[in-house]
Amino acid sequence: MLTANEIRSRFLCYFKERNHTLVPSSPLIPHNDPTLLFINAGMNQFKDVFLGREKRDYVRASSAQKCVRAGGKHNDLENVGRTARHHTFFEMLGNFSFGDYFKEDAIRYAWEFLTVEMELPVSKLWITVFQDDDEAFAIWRDQIGLPEERVIRMDEKDNFWSMGDTGPCGPCSEIHIDQGESMSCGPDCGIGSCDCDRYLELWNLVFMQFDRSADGVLTPLPKPSIDTGMGLERIAAVVQGVQSNYDCDLLRGIIAYIEKLAGKKYGDDEEQDVSMRVIADHSRATAFLIADGVLPSNEGRGYVLRRIMRRAARHAKMLGFDEPVLYRSTVFVLESMAEAYPEMAQRTDYVAKVVKNEEERFIQTLDNGLRILTDEVARLQQEKQTVLPGEIAFRLYDTFGFPLDLTADIVAGESITIDEAGFDSAMEEQRRKAREHWKGSGEEAVAGIYRQLVEDGLRSEFNGYDNLTANSEIV
Ligand code: ATP
Ligand code: MG
Ligand code: MG
Ligand code: MG
Repeated sequence: MLTANEIRSRFLCYFKERNHTLVPSSPLIPHNDPTLLFINAGMNQFKDVFLGREKRDYVRASSAQKCVRAGGKHNDLENVGRTARHHTFFEMLGNFSFGDYFKEDAIRYAWEFLTVEMELPVSKLWITVFQDDDEAFAIWRDQIGLPEERVIRMDEKDNFWSMGDTGPCGPCSEIHIDQGESMSCGPDCGIGSCDCDRYLELWNLVFMQFDRSADGVLTPLPKPSIDTGMGLERIAAVVQGVQSNYDCDLLRGIIAYIEKLAGKKYGDDEEQDVSMRVIADHSRATAFLIADGVLPSNEGRGYVLRRIMRRAARHAKMLGFDEPVLYRSTVFVLESMAEAYPEMAQRTDYVAKVVKNEEERFIQTLDNGLRILTDEVARLQQEKQTVLPGEIAFRLYDTFGFPLDLTADIVAGESITIDEAGFDSAMEEQRRKAREHWKGSGEEAVAGIYRQLVEDGLRSEFNGYDNLTANSEIV
């Protein structure tokens, strides 16, 4: 059986043999791209090459790229632990053509890698193409030889990619594998018609073909390009014959480590399993984000990291851990990934310190916060209400360090939502009071510069939440 490390190597070798230059993963913090929260695809580091702003001495590249999808345009945070295929941190295998080969070769390479190198059964593979992309449809049918009914035309929402509102864009074609009826969500289950785990999306081939102008007109690019991405954990799970990413060797080892620490068995209880998956996933994201230079904080990228860590801490609590444990699972992650990421593994001491410090601080308030929340949920249920008042959510945030999404996640299990407008106005009220306090404190004599500093500190403290509500990208 191939390990994930072997699959990663086989992928890179395969493309190297086909004249691709192997390019190392870039760090998770985007370099020079304030529009992006974290690197979330293999193509990110090549953006300027695709745009023609930067020249490289190669026209074909391949990489295994560290990615995080926990905010901004791609946010899989809520999916973690619940679907079999989503992570916050994952590796994306990709091959790229910068004005060199196009659809025919991209399709043939991907197909041959999956069916010959990885020996996936042809009978289980399904293809989607963009509805107007007759060219791609014909390649799959005539050159690859697939029956027409296995190539499905999809609309713009699913099979058309764009870099932004303007600029490079184009149709894509995705390769899925049918995982069988046991993974199906019901009789209507099909590619595109539902979001369950039966038809697992493996590989996305993007055909960068047009330049979109501000008025929406598509002009063919003189030199079309290729950008592809396949999740390593997904292909590893499929090759290893398991139906969940969490059962492939990359994740299973971490879960086994958590099982051992918790003295509990994965597979015994569904809620417990969710917690183990969340901790495994979030430990990977936490370890890699911190090793790449992000620190937990109250704003921006650091606040996304903090939210991930606090979610993990709450699940650790649910599994029965009363002492910090994530500083151990994150070290385990880095050590077990040392073969592929030796430079990350050198930062274990630093990562352990940062994680432990954050965990210790949060554990102190987690219990008290949870107690308040439990009482509040009981009260709401008694009164047959389904909305948690905004000021309670704000008190949990302000006094107990509960990010709003953590509170939402906890009460969602009881079918309760949060009055977010109430939360926002409680936050605003708090800010107003802070300003009043300054005015009335008789300390106007304090040097202006000092006061400004403190005010900035306060502001950045509270802006953290504003800056990163569910789907906003940092700008
Ligand atoms: P999905 O529909 O399953 O959410 P996607 O269409 O959002 O996936 P793409 O943006 O096309 O994913 O990314 C390319 C590939 O990266 C996917 O085909 C998949 O193999 C992998 N991938 C995407 N998101 C994740 C994730 N959260 N965890 C693990 N692998 C992922
Ligand atoms: Mg997605
Ligand atoms: Mg998809
Ligand atoms: Mg996709």
